Amino acid sequence: MSASSRSGPSDEEARRAELADALAAVRARVADAARAAGRDPAEVGLLAVTKTWPASDVALLTDLGLDAFGENKEQEGAAKAAELADLRPDAAPRWHVVGRLQRNKARSLVRWAHAVDSVDSARLVDALESAAARAVDAGERQGPLEVLVQVSVDADPSRGGAPVAEVPGLADRVAGCAHLHLGGVMTVAPQDVTPEEAFATVSDVAARVRATHPRATTLSAGMSGDLEAAVAYGSTCVRVGTALLGRR
Ligand SMILES: *Cc1c(COP(=O)(O)O)cnc(C)c1O
Repeated sequence: MSASSRSGPSDEEARRAELADALAAVRARVADAARAAGRDPAEVGLLAVTKTWPASDVALLTDLGLDAFGENKEQEGAAKAAELADLRPDAAPRWHVVGRLQRNKARSLVRWAHAVDSVDSARLVDALESAAARAVDAGERQGPLEVLVQVSVDADPSRGGAPVAEVPGLADRVAGCAHLHLGGVMTVAPQDVTPEEAFATVSDVAARVRATHPRATTLSAGMSGDLEAAVAYGSTCVRVGTALLGRR
């Protein structure tokens, strides 16, 4: 279903009900997984990954109480953030970039994004720092850009992420930047190992980063298909697209 094919009020109500049901189901999965792991469900945040879905859906998710949204393309995210600001002027959404990012997108990204969850190279850290500094000077952004270092468990470059051995050094580099705030680490589990193996590795790296940077407490792990395993290994943020919004 495209955005334009459901423009009428009854279509909007149907979509609202669909999203409310999906959100309740996702929240129940997260809560069950947390309790099974002896954790408080409130420790696990939910980032709605809205890539490919229209701003009207983000507006409905805002009405349903969500405030954190993920996009994987700079231009799509910028346009959607602007549209949402028109649709819900009183909302205070936090937009996260979760995808592979070219350094030349940093300058425009810092105007609308609260966070970049997919930082995986020193050159990208430096580009984001100088872009954030300029944006703050120009009055285009208020606070620092939140950054997660993306961990690649199998060092396969296609999914993005830095090899495990490079993660502590990248975290140190982010922490040394005046206009970046190190939030923690993020991962996308590879296909060729079990999610449990992948999340166990990432949980170790996250602990190493926290030992040096005690406030970097975010572990962003788990998507529609593997959020239970991620919560069992300490995820503090699941990034959910399909299970909330439908198949892309
Ligand atoms: C698309 C995407 C997600 C959401 O994936 P689903 O399987 O649709 O829940 C999470 N994280 C990243 C980095 C993504 O690109």
